[in-house]
Amino acid sequence: MVGNAKRIIEFLEERYGPMRHRYNEDPFRLLISCVISQRTRDEVSERVSKRLLSVANTPRKINGLPMAKLRRLIKSSGTYRQKAKHIKGIAKIILEKYHGRVPKDRAKLMELPGIGPKCSAIVLSYGFGVPIIAVDVNVERISKRLGLAGEKDNIEAVREKLQKFFQRNKWLEVNVGMVRFGRDICLPQNPKCKICPLLAICPFGKKRTKNDYP
Ligand code: SF4
Repeated sequence: MVGNAKRIIEFLEERYGPMRHRYNEDPFRLLISCVISQRTRDEVSERVSKRLLSVANTPRKINGLPMAKLRRLIKSSGTYRQKAKHIKGIAKIILEKYHGRVPKDRAKLMELPGIGPKCSAIVLSYGFGVPIIAVDVNVERISKRLGLAGEKDNIEAVREKLQKFFQRNKWLEVNVGMVRFGRDICLPQNPKCKICPLLAICPFGKKRTKNDYP
């Protein structure tokens, strides 16, 4: 298994390059983007987040935004009424309880409206550089296909297994690398198993390509 972990990391680093510089993103922007991304396709949520954050990118500005305007700005991301409520709630709590600064604490992050295990890990990892594997849909799907986690594991169980499997100093690489791999080769539908360098260690890929590789 250690060999497989090394192989996966080497592949991710070789294909997607050095990834350390990405871990200083604005934690507040990450929180808001994460709420908007829920149950929404990446390209839509990226566009909507950019639109909202170009108008209001701090807790104070979001707090001052009229609810109707906020809803209008994020409407195309779906379930926008609930998301708007969460975004307002997050801004208010951060202003009133944390003096405008996003807390660097997983339990406190998970107390914010609409913020669960995935978003809290994303904020800690990408915003504060805290070593934690953020399990999004890509990371979950790839981990299960590679047999690193069980089919029925929830995202916390997947995270714990991945954090045991990979060395701590590689957790941040796993975040970015697996997300890119999931958009590039290990796609949700029709993964490109035949050209995948991890096919030899992937139970899902081997099963899928059995007839091509007897
Ligand atoms: Fe994903 Fe297929 Fe590669 Fe397995 S072999 S990791 S399923 S692309």
